[in-house]
Amino acid sequence: MAARKVPVKPILDTLAHMYPDAKCALNHTTPFELLIATMLSAQCTDARVNIVTARIFPTHNRPEHFTPHTPEEIGEMIRDCGLWQSKAKNIHATCRLLLDKHGGEVPATMEELVALPGVGRKTANVVLSNAFGVPAIAVDTHVFRVSNRLGLADADTPEKTEEQLMKKIPRELWSQAHHWIIHHGRQICDARKPKCSECPLREHCKFGRKTCKPASQ
Ligand code: SF4
Repeated sequence: MAARKVPVKPILDTLAHMYPDAKCALNHTTPFELLIATMLSAQCTDARVNIVTARIFPTHNRPEHFTPHTPEEIGEMIRDCGLWQSKAKNIHATCRLLLDKHGGEVPATMEELVALPGVGRKTANVVLSNAFGVPAIAVDTHVFRVSNRLGLADADTPEKTEEQLMKKIPRELWSQAHHWIIHHGRQICDARKPKCSECPLREHCKFGRKTCKPASQ
């Protein structure tokens, strides 16, 4: 039997309708602030990151503001975020590299971004799309889970998920689709208890069709 074609357009249209105002939830005013906020967001909620950055960005919003500090001192500033010791080391090393190799500015290419300590493809894609307007799909835990449940991807790693999403989703929608999917993961398609019976995507969703009955049944 032929595999069911993934209804990409109806899925994207529904998400666009559900989350018309979806955008990056990390507060920032510059590429550098977004880079630091995204580095802090690993295993930490955006809300908590925003509390921490509201405290530190008024005095620390350039690489040269961080490099005079030791990683231990930076750790004290960001202690409320998980994994703060390794994040502090990476922030220190990244700021050093930004000053040494990039004139203190955040580079706008994937290759240069992933060369920064503690910066992987997900962080680089967040920065590229939100700070520089480069179409990109950052695959975080929500995007990985939701897109594989929906059938937009069928992959066991974030990298493969990103590749597959880029093939299925029109390039001009990459950045926005990333936000729509994150919002859906936060609001309805929960990791442990997805609310399939009330999900407007259920009829289009590989996982939802298999496992859930609509609310009216
Ligand atoms: S139907 Fe269920 S699994 Fe599919 S997107 Fe909706 S909540 Fe997630």
